[in-house]
Amino acid sequence: MALFAHDCPRCRLVGSTNRVDVYICETGFEDRSISIRFGDEPHEYKCMGGLEETRRVAVVTGIDGDYAVAVRMIDAERAAA
Ligand SMILES: [Zn+2]
Repeated sequence: MALFAHDCPRCRLVGSTNRVDVYICETGFEDRSISIRFGDEPHEYKCMGGLEETRRVAVVTGIDGDYAVAVRMIDAERAAA
């Protein structure tokens, strides 16, 4: 269940923390498919890039950062599939 409104019909919710929703947008643009939403307003949204880019930023921003959280969610989902 998403915390915030998000109107892209191609985005799939991967999961939510107590603060953000993590989405994968299935548009076919692998290099910019992961995003988070941290509010209902249009600008309360951040595109993280593709999985490899998100992983690189996660290393820099630390294990508690939004990027690392998104990577862990996506990896866990893939491991469970
Ligand atoms: Zn989308």
